[in-house]
Amino acid sequence: MSSQIELVCGDITQLDVDAIVNAANNSLLGGGGVDGAIHAAAGPQLLDECRSLGGCETGEAKLTRGYRLKAPWIIHTVGPVWYGGDDQEAEMLEQCYRSVFGQAVAAQLNSVAFPAISCGVYGYPAKEAIAIAVGTVLKLLKTYPQIDKVIFCSFSQEMHRLYQEELKLHR
Ligand code: ADP
Repeated sequence: MSSQIELVCGDITQLDVDAIVNAANNSLLGGGGVDGAIHAAAGPQLLDECRSLGGCETGEAKLTRGYRLKAPWIIHTVGPVWYGGDDQEAEMLEQCYRSVFGQAVAAQLNSVAFPAISCGVYGYPAKEAIAIAVGTVLKLLKTYPQIDKVIFCSFSQEMHRLYQEELKLHR
């Protein structure tokens, strides 16, 4: 397992990293799940900044400040909605991780925490999504050594265990 990867079970808004990743929607104007939790914790200035961004395409990522969060930055990305697997969901999910790394590298950030993008309301099967998350991040860490820490933050013990199992496959 890569020494740069850490697994945390808890609330991503509390993490002390350069950037936390938001699993947002195309409007970037807030929503439920982790998006709602991030907006609530960061405060209303986040919505003001998001309004100026003109939304975000699925698979892309945009950077904002973190406002009241410990993390100084938030990287907002929009995961695919799961339509059964034949609608390029895997490619789009992989693209989210690539786009987040692109933003992190451009902003010279060193540590990033990801939630399980698309695994909530968007309905992506968790095991498959986690395999893409871990596999893609391991590749990206080789390409971008300046990123020295990636946290996969789970919100349930069940998700946490799935990340542990996936990482074991890469030892
Ligand atoms: P999506 O719309 O991309 O599916 P969701 O926010 O519905 O996004 O869910 C993505 C994942 O984030 C789910 O596994 C959900 O349990 C988790 N999650 C929800 N709130 C938090 C939080 N505060 N910290 C970390 N993960 C969270």
